[in-house]
Amino acid sequence: MRRPIVAGNWKLHGSRAENARLVEEIMAQVPSKPAGQCIVCPPLVYLQEVGRLLRGSSVELGAQDVCAETQGAFTGEVSAAMLKDVGCEYVIVGHSERRLIYRESDQLIARKFQAAQSKSMVPILCLGEQLAERDADRTKEVVGRQLDAVLELAGIDAFAHAVIAYEPVWAIGTGRNATPDQAQDVHAFIRARLQARNAKIAAETRVLYGGSVKAGNAAELFAMPDVDGGLIGGASLKADEFLAILAAARPH
Ligand code: PEP
Repeated sequence: MRRPIVAGNWKLHGSRAENARLVEEIMAQVPSKPAGQCIVCPPLVYLQEVGRLLRGSSVELGAQDVCAETQGAFTGEVSAAMLKDVGCEYVIVGHSERRLIYRESDQLIARKFQAAQSKSMVPILCLGEQLAERDADRTKEVVGRQLDAVLELAGIDAFAHAVIAYEPVWAIGTGRNATPDQAQDVHAFIRARLQARNAKIAAETRVLYGGSVKAGNAAELFAMPDVDGGLIGGASLKADEFLAILAAARPH
């Protein structure tokens, strides 16, 4: 059985006061043993404090990005060792905003994936096509290429300690989510690609869906057999909404 995950990507939002309020609201309502694993990913500068606020709860801590390098002259960057040092267990790598706005390549993202694992953190590897690519029927070509870059560098065994998030770019922050069938189709494709290399790892890897997930549509998306929870942007900033999404997560 795969335990689902609901991870909140806070992106560039929050302040110390807002985070304290949000964490307090989440902690007041989150079950001590939820069916799904619950993770929050605040901005880098708040990781340590949010980790401290979450202590004793079932909610885990993740970062939104990591440097591929270990140390040295890389101004503005934060290493995997530093993230681990402040209590991170998960790291999002390859979010479409990193791929598109900051022009991160498939190869750089694969190195970030390895950097996270080198410090025993679990990478949440985001994959997803843009609208023009979907319209041109290139979704699987793009998602397959993004996945293969990591498989080639890190190998299939690395996926025993990784999570994948399928996030169609046209559905992120747009209010336009993929239909459950559209999500299932790509999730099954991702799992089949892993299965071609290792059936056991493929069967155990959690593949999350991300893109305008809300309390109102989470249950139907999470009911799909290859959808193992969600990576949540906007709706993770409201405790009620985020916890309702967590409550919709079911093991498969
Ligand atoms: C995301 O940023 O990963 C995301 C899925 O955002 P949203 O839920 O706001 O579409």
